[in-house]
This record gives sequence, C-alpha cells and structure tokens, in this order.
Amino acid sequence: MASVTLSRLGLTYPDGTVGLDAVDLTVADGEFIALVGPSGSGKTTLLRAIAGFLAPTTGTVHIGDTLVAGPGTLLAPEKRGLGMVFQQHAVWPHLTVAQNIVYPLRRAGVGRAQRAQQLARVLSTVGLTGFDKRNPATLSGGQRQRVALARAIIGSPRVLLLDEALSALDEPLRGALRLELQALTRSIGLTVIHVTHDREEALALADRVVVLDGGRVQQIGAPPELVSLPNSPAVARFLSDATIFSGVLSPSGFVATDHPCAVPGSRIEAVGGRSGPGSIAVLPEDIDLVAASADRQDVRGEGDDDHGSARVTSSLFGRTGNDVVVDWEGASVRCRVPGVRPLVGEPVRVSVRRAVFYPRAAAPAPAAVFAAPYHSTEIGG
Ligand code: ADP
Ligand code: MG
Repeated sequence: MASVTLSRLGLTYPDGTVGLDAVDLTVADGEFIALVGPSGSGKTTLLRAIAGFLAPTTGTVHIGDTLVAGPGTLLAPEKRGLGMVFQQHAVWPHLTVAQNIVYPLRRAGVGRAQRAQQLARVLSTVGLTGFDKRNPATLSGGQRQRVALARAIIGSPRVLLLDEALSALDEPLRGALRLELQALTRSIGLTVIHVTHDREEALALADRVVVLDGGRVQQIGAPPELVSLPNSPAVARFLSDATIFSGVLSPSGFVATDHPCAVPGSRIEAVGGRSGPGSIAVLPEDIDLVAASADRQDVRGEGDDDHGSARVTSSLFGRTGNDVVVDWEGASVRCRVPGVRPLVGEPVRVSVRRAVFYPRAAAPAPAAVFAAPYHSTEIGG
C-alpha cells in the first residue's frame, strides 16, 4: 500500500487537447478517493497518467516515495505495482476464471504453489470460491467484474485504480458490488482511486471526492463538505443540481437580478466574500415549497416577502424526498420535498431556507464549462 502524489501534473495530447492542467493531489496511504466529473473532464487521462499508459507533459507522479513520472523519468506500467480495473477491460473469454486471475502472477514469474495459494485467498475475498474452473462466459456481469477485481488485487498492489469499474452493471447488482468494493478495499487497507461519472457513487464510497472539470481540480473534500459547501456555482450545480441566481448581496440579504428571489442575510453562507455582485447556489434540500392555497400567515418566515409564484413542472417519487422541479417566475428550480408528493401543475410558493453566496470575482468558473446533468438555470447576470 502506498500514497500517490501528483504535483502540477499536466498532460496535453498530441493534437493539442488539454487533458490535465496543473493537477495537485495527494492521496494518503489507505485512502479511498473518488474522482468525479462530467464526460471529457480528464478522469481517464488522470488515471492513465498514474498507471503509466500516458506520459505527462509537465509535473510529477510519485507512488509512495518513488518518482514514477516526471522530467526524464517514465516508469513502465508493470513496474509501478498497481492493480487496475477498467470498464472496457473485460476478462479474457478463452481463459478460465482461475487463469484470468493468476495471469499477473504468471507474468511476474510466481511459482505454481504460491499462485494456487494466492488464488484461493482472492477468490474467497471476492466471494467466488469454487468458481475457479468456470468459463467467464457462464458468469453474470457482476461475477465477471469480481473476477477483474480479483485479478487486480492478487499481486497485492500498492494502489488500486478503478475506471468506471461498476458503471456497466445494472442495479441492484451495482449497488451490491459498491458495498462489496468498500468492504473489501477497507478490510485490506488498499489505497484506491475510483473514477466514476456517477455523483452518488462517488459521494457514497469515498473518504474524499475530487471534482474535475476541464482537466483541472475544481474541489477536493469529504462528501458532506462538498455537498453542503461547494466552492463554486459550477460544483454546486454538478454535484447537487443547485439552482444558481445572479444578483447582489448586501448586509440585509441577497436580491436576484431580474427575478423575485430574495434571501435574508441570516440564511446566506458565503464562500470568499460577503457583499457585492455575485451569485447564490440554492441546493434542492434547502428549499421549502408551500401549496399556494395555504394560509400565508402560516408559511411566512423571517424576511419572507412576496417572491412571486411558482408551478410544479415535474414531481418524481424519491425515498428520501420527492424530486420536484418548479418553474419559479422563469427559473427552473430543483427541490427535494419530503412528505406529500406535489402534483404536476400545482401552484406553489418557494422559500429559500439557505443559500451559498459566491462573489463574482471568486467564481471564475464559466457556467458553460459544466454540463448540468439534469437541468440548468441561470437568471439575470
Ligand atoms: P473523462 O474520462 O473524464 O471522460 P478523458 O480523460 O477521457 O475524460 O478526456 C479528457 C479530454 O481529453 C477530453 O477532451 C478528451 O476528448 C480528450 N482526449 C482523450 N483522449 C484523447 C486522445 N487520445 N487524443 C486527443 N484528445 C484526447
Ligand atoms: Mg473516462
């Protein structure tokens, strides 16, 4: 097991496409890191640069104390002591399960007796004891993925690299394998870098999540921190489907430009500055919807004025709250609504319980860089 340290890591493809731009990241020994970001954000490039399949243009990669890539140094992938599972790396169909799994040991010249011993150990670890003679074609997708995982860990790698390793699987298998992956890697204290485009998977599994976009690290943090205090409107939108309003913050509160949204100062958390022009991110769970027919006196809280009208445009059931989108005076706003599921078309009033403010200068990430996964709204400017 080992740490991984990336320092000012840059990678430009021969055609000029920037894959990575000055990435700094230190993964502690035994840490489980999830790398998340939209398609094309550089996740696979980062993983392949750590693995040694791509040579960085600038910067360095250390695994433990060993410099494996840097100016004048490029250690071959098989010399880096890593285990890898990639979505596209299927298990070999012409080999049995056992032959697939012990392949790295054969290549490394490990003797037959020791191979058999280690095979028994990893088969048990991934829950495939008794499957050694099977042809991979007779296995389920989840079992095949566990074969790939067994092959990746049999050589006791220093670091396990996973690129969308679960993404091809269907639920509920994927959820089950997620649990197994965590249990397995934690029980042997593996350092893991797990790439996924699935936000929920990243947040669920990782000690820390790294949000990449445009080849750059946008934010690194523990899941609760990333969710409650995203450091830019773009991260708020990407990770949490936050709604972004542009406007101005003064001591009394935030007032949106060209929209009735206004939030009292007591409900604003600020990232990098507490006044002036900027934008707020409003998380779905920080919005209260009240049926428009309810008695106004009951629902008006501190500082609530008339914030215009809104109408439910979609309302999906969710276990931890209904997933509701309302059209609020032209803004499409995602809300998590516990309890009774609102009806599509129902008129509602919107109250913002909490918002995160970003002064304009501190929020340089252009809104267009992140493709919002479901919907996107930016009002005013
Ligand atoms: P992700 O895995 O996050 O979807 P990638 O790391 O595959 O993203 O890609 C990052 C960027 O590098 C994208 O703009 C992609 O088009 C580009 N890219 C990836 N591979 C190559 C390549 N071989 N040549 C040129 N550009 C590439
Ligand atoms: Mg990729």
